[in-house]
Amino acid sequence: MITTHLKSGARSFFDHVFMCVSVCVSLLVLSISACSPQQEPVEKPPAPDLVVINADVYTVDSTRARADAFAVSAGKFVAIGSTAEIQQLVGADTEVIDVGGVSVIPGLIDGHTHLLMGAGLAVGVDLSEIEDKSEWLRIIRDKAQNLPANAWILGGAWDHSLSDGVLPTKEMLDPITPDHPVLLRDIDGHSAWANSLAIKLAGISADSPVPPSGEIVLDPETGEMTGIFLEAAGSLFSDAPGMAEATDPVAGIKAAVALANSHGITSVHDMSNHFDEFLAVFDDGDLTLRVWQGARPPLVLDQSPDEVYAQMAAERERVRQHVAANAQTKSMGPLFDIGYTKLIVDGVLSTYTALMKAPYSDNPDAIAEPFVSKDQLNAMIAAAHDHDFPVAVHAIGDDAVSWVLDGFAQSPRRPGMPADRIEHVEMVTPDDVARFASLGVIASMQPHHATCCVGNYVIDRVGRERLPNAYVWRSMLDSDVPLVLGSDWPTSPLNPLIQMADTIHRETRIDGVIRPWDEGNSLTFEEALYGYTQSGADRTAWANEIGSITVGKWADFVILDEKLPVTVDRALENRQVTATYLAGQRVFPTNQ
Ligand SMILES: [Zn+2]
Repeated sequence: MITTHLKSGARSFFDHVFMCVSVCVSLLVLSISACSPQQEPVEKPPAPDLVVINADVYTVDSTRARADAFAVSAGKFVAIGSTAEIQQLVGADTEVIDVGGVSVIPGLIDGHTHLLMGAGLAVGVDLSEIEDKSEWLRIIRDKAQNLPANAWILGGAWDHSLSDGVLPTKEMLDPITPDHPVLLRDIDGHSAWANSLAIKLAGISADSPVPPSGEIVLDPETGEMTGIFLEAAGSLFSDAPGMAEATDPVAGIKAAVALANSHGITSVHDMSNHFDEFLAVFDDGDLTLRVWQGARPPLVLDQSPDEVYAQMAAERERVRQHVAANAQTKSMGPLFDIGYTKLIVDGVLSTYTALMKAPYSDNPDAIAEPFVSKDQLNAMIAAAHDHDFPVAVHAIGDDAVSWVLDGFAQSPRRPGMPADRIEHVEMVTPDDVARFASLGVIASMQPHHATCCVGNYVIDRVGRERLPNAYVWRSMLDSDVPLVLGSDWPTSPLNPLIQMADTIHRETRIDGVIRPWDEGNSLTFEEALYGYTQSGADRTAWANEIGSITVGKWADFVILDEKLPVTVDRALENRQVTATYLAGQRVFPTNQ
């Protein structure tokens, strides 16, 4: 039987279909001529715009978890059923996509991104997680061959500690990029690697004045620049010819959106401001991604929290009016909103800046300084709620998480607002897991931060005795705490199939061997998929419009290259997205 879940009052052509079916005592009759002549003529419903058949569909809708096919009209799912059922709906103008048995999943929702921060990787080169330096050079050479001469090559995310631990040099770049200035940031953003042309264009010499905390790295023997610029020295390139065009934020967001679509992502919770840049992309019709944006107040306030949030609410209103005036949302559904506010309490475990209840195991003298006082945090949460902003707070250490829960307990959100959330939650005590549940707070977690780093430095920082409190995905679900999954791109891979595979295998490199740890906290594929789809939708105002393959929702879906096995394992990370659809329109690939 075809599944229909239309909201009350909404009638699709399937209502007509079933009227006809009931009279004609036939499985599925689409033609009026097949009905008895005594019946009132029923207007023939329009055929769907698009059907997908012979698919292994994961709907993420518990009322019908799996299906073989579905139909789309006017950008929305209108029927879900067997291939035979859906094929009968096909009309002369219906596009039929026979996927030949591969898996189809809902459009993926990344619960934590910084799209503009990652733009360099999207427009430039992405060297993240690549160990072999010769592979870095191959990627850079390929990029140069596809760019006009003198265009900057940006991006990077290289990590020399994955290979030989030796910093790269300008001499490695010069032979392969004689006509292109190159400036590539490392994975942490602390170092920049440039070629000779970039250095020349920027007018930098070995004795150029350097901003405080910056350093031009020189060869100790020759005194020559090596091509590495530390911290603020990277800003010496900011005014170089061509750099402004190369870092244009609107072009950068467009590239990041296209990259997200290529990974099957149709919606993100983005953690930055830059509203006007996103609106420019939207106005150009290139925002093929539903962006639930977090508004960030200044780190240092020169006004009261109430005044700050009153201004942010006015800004939100301006953005909403701008979006509402554009007809795109009628045919594509929601595309952009300022949905919440993003705050930050502490830093990260790697640099001992995460706020922990007990000293760091490998550096007991390290004292992390919070970005805000507890009183300030509480005042910000209260003011945000007063102005109808749900709150998302970066908290990585177990003490930072407690602070935020205290703040949420003190100033509960108003009924009807999307839930408050804590971002990262890398360390959390069992008592606080229970408080997430009792306070109705969402855990927004990024799986690859665990698998990359538990063996790398987390065990050192927190010790094995505190490790059971690290990245507790399963404990959250078992305690009825909703779990939203995401990438925190560009700090970890944007590819959701890698992130979901991480939750399944939960492996990290410990003592040189890649192996699982604390396997009880791993997830199933179905749980991970829920965290990357409907759970993300539930945090927005769009819970009933996106997040699953359900009749009446916008037709955001992803076609994979193979059928997933009955029990999905880490091979998921090797699957490819062959097509991504947003509101029934293909947004990846766009060149066919
Ligand atoms: Zn982040």
